[in-house]
Amino acid sequence: MSTSTPVSGLADSYGRVATDLRVSLTDRCNLRCNYCMPAEGLDWLPTEETLTDDEVVRLVRIGVEQLGIREVRFTGGEPLLRRGLADIVARTKALEPSPEVSLTTNALGLSRTAETLAAAGLDRVNVSLDTVRRAEFEQITRRDRLQDVLDGLAAAKRAGLTPIKVNAVLMRGVNDVHAPELLRWCLDHDYQLRIIEQMPLDAQHGWSRDGMITAEEIFALLEKDFELTPDPEHRGSAPAETFLVDGGPAKVGVIASVTRPFCGDCDRVRLTADGQVRNCLFARQESDLRAALRGTATDDEIADQWRLAMMTKRPGHGIDDELFLQPTRPMSAIGG
Ligand code: SAM
Repeated sequence: MSTSTPVSGLADSYGRVATDLRVSLTDRCNLRCNYCMPAEGLDWLPTEETLTDDEVVRLVRIGVEQLGIREVRFTGGEPLLRRGLADIVARTKALEPSPEVSLTTNALGLSRTAETLAAAGLDRVNVSLDTVRRAEFEQITRRDRLQDVLDGLAAAKRAGLTPIKVNAVLMRGVNDVHAPELLRWCLDHDYQLRIIEQMPLDAQHGWSRDGMITAEEIFALLEKDFELTPDPEHRGSAPAETFLVDGGPAKVGVIASVTRPFCGDCDRVRLTADGQVRNCLFARQESDLRAALRGTATDDEIADQWRLAMMTKRPGHGIDDELFLQPTRPMSAIGG
């Protein structure tokens, strides 16, 4: 750690401080979830525009050593597609102070890599799984790979990558009515389910407010089979509002980004696979750290540029504003 440089964190002009860094390692994915990507025809980032492993680790190191980042979550696209993932994880975990390191993944291939990633220092995983019904899974993801995801989840549990959170998006008329079944399955397997409201971040711009399943609808669906009571534990900056299931200790989370936004407590900042800092999922401006990295910028100069990028963070994502514009980059290219 560069002891000469005092940590001055990633504060924005509303007093929020980002300590949780989401790093997209690739915009590529091996599923094609229909709320995220079109069936075909999404251009990938050219390889030369994607940060190298060394470049990723340098930026993460600056974040941890100079900017107060305490949690690093690797995402994508699909981060397991990144060949150097285990090495990036190991080098991140070895930083001082050692951050919590996690992965958001669809778990395809995790059955082969979970042990290696755990040995590299990965602390835990969030796995995306919208249904445990094979036909529904194929309908949503456009791939017949449910069993691979289930195998990946089991391997993550064996490797100790816990607590394992399962992220689900509900689609009206597809998997919404089976939400209680998914919760039961997660409870039986000791995974913590979190249901996410669908956000306007799909590449094909197909989102509509009327089409999405709201938090209120999610509660109504789950309460057909379960009793939900507010979790007495303090939520802090967590995106999920959690509830005790049938009196606890099991919990379920609802991430109601659209209808119950939590921007006031946001402590997140994002780095895209091509080295752009985004101060919000819905930001329309980015700060190009790749250009700085590939130029002659020192670590201190990069840290200053990153701090400056936080100052334009808006008080809220503005989905409800009349003038709301969906960001140009889809979720798969930002990193969820
Ligand atoms: N491929 C990895 C995965 O499947 O977890 C990481 C990237 S994926 C974009 C991250 C998360 O974003 C997934 O849980 C996915 O369900 C969620 N997601 C994608 N598009 C979304 C949208 N429009 N609204 C809400 N969540 C979305």
